[in-house]
Amino acid sequence: MNNPYQNAVKQLENVAKFIEIDKKILEQLKSPKKVHKADLKIKLDNGKMVTFKAFRSQHNDAIGPHKGGIRFHPNVSEDEVKALSMWMTWKCATVGIPYGGAKGGIICDPKNMSQTELERLSRAYMRAMYKNFGAWKDVPAPDVNTDGQTMAWMLDEYEKLVGHLEPAMITGKPLELGGSQGRTEATGLGGFYVLEQLAKVKKLNKKKTTIAVQGVGNVGYWFMEFAKKAGYQIVASSNSKGGEYKGKKITNEQLLELPVDVLVPAALENQITQANAAKIKAKYIIEMANGPVTPEADEILHQKGIISLPDVLCNAGGVTVSYFEWVQNNMGYYWEKDEVWAKLKVIMDRAFSEVWEIYTAKKASLAESRRVNPRMAAYILAVSRVVKAMQLRGR
Ligand code: NAD
Repeated sequence: MNNPYQNAVKQLENVAKFIEIDKKILEQLKSPKKVHKADLKIKLDNGKMVTFKAFRSQHNDAIGPHKGGIRFHPNVSEDEVKALSMWMTWKCATVGIPYGGAKGGIICDPKNMSQTELERLSRAYMRAMYKNFGAWKDVPAPDVNTDGQTMAWMLDEYEKLVGHLEPAMITGKPLELGGSQGRTEATGLGGFYVLEQLAKVKKLNKKKTTIAVQGVGNVGYWFMEFAKKAGYQIVASSNSKGGEYKGKKITNEQLLELPVDVLVPAALENQITQANAAKIKAKYIIEMANGPVTPEADEILHQKGIISLPDVLCNAGGVTVSYFEWVQNNMGYYWEKDEVWAKLKVIMDRAFSEVWEIYTAKKASLAESRRVNPRMAAYILAVSRVVKAMQLRGR
């Protein structure tokens, strides 16, 4: 298995071939600004004391406070959070929201823990890490196996420790604690806005455009709902148990290889790999999951002429509405759902155009290089923005 952090560094080195980056800045960007670690000791329901390893990697804050989720999973590792924190920096910069990147995690198996144990663990995380967080320092959010309840416990513990209310220190909160309207649908809706922009530039006829969605969870479900309502043809969908294509049962592997116009992986990472990339028949891929296409597969798809729009663009609707939640908390004034969605559209549409412009740029304007794939286009946009902010700060 590839080391995700080494992959992230390699990607950054590739970006540096297309844009000019000062050597010192490049070196700084290769590693997080700071990685905080802690051993969290909590009492289980059976009275036993157990220790869990916890991390918070803060990659960059040149553009704004660090931003990124906290995951609870047995496979969490220091290198994983380091990689994910770097990708958060690029995701926020791709869509142009005023945040840097971070990621946190606890090595634990939440499926085998009670609610009270999870509450003690969440509070212990904040007790160990609270000095690193804050509305203008580092703003966490839910990630794998954490949710609004986890954020509520963490917020409560943080506020007890600092002695004042500060809802903007964490996002993905329940509505009752300052969460944003429209967050549930945000990631799927953001992906739908990307689909609409793609349809516009590629002049797709919606009614004739067929779509297959892998993984009808939160993200996949809302993407499908908005696409269906707009008139696109959803011909296949699946969950972890398998899928359906035009009424017939299919496997998840078969779903990926269907002759559709748009393929939407919305479940897990590493779904399109060196092993199946050559068999993909879709013309377009909208990456709604994080990392569904491996770097090797990316190259194969690009050579086949398949346009694979990257996760840092397609699923950024989630972090964008997290940003709106933070804005609303900071001003103490709350928007209706329609307003949140309209503002999301402005940001997603602009980001799509900016990425598309680099992707379709004439060779000469990209340092005489070959045409970049859409992921590289997004990274070029994002890394340039972060580098510029670092230069302005004199870092
Ligand atoms: P979820 O748990 O709600 O849904 C995941 C879906 O994938 C479920 O329907 C599950 O049955 C299905 N699934 C699991 N294993 C599968 C497999 N092997 N093949 C096909 N389907 C499978 O999760 P989610 O919140 O919808 O997140 C999905 C992806 O989107 C993840 O990669 C996540 O990191 C990414 N993402 C989510 C958000 C968000 O706001 N929720 C934001 C950005 C990125």
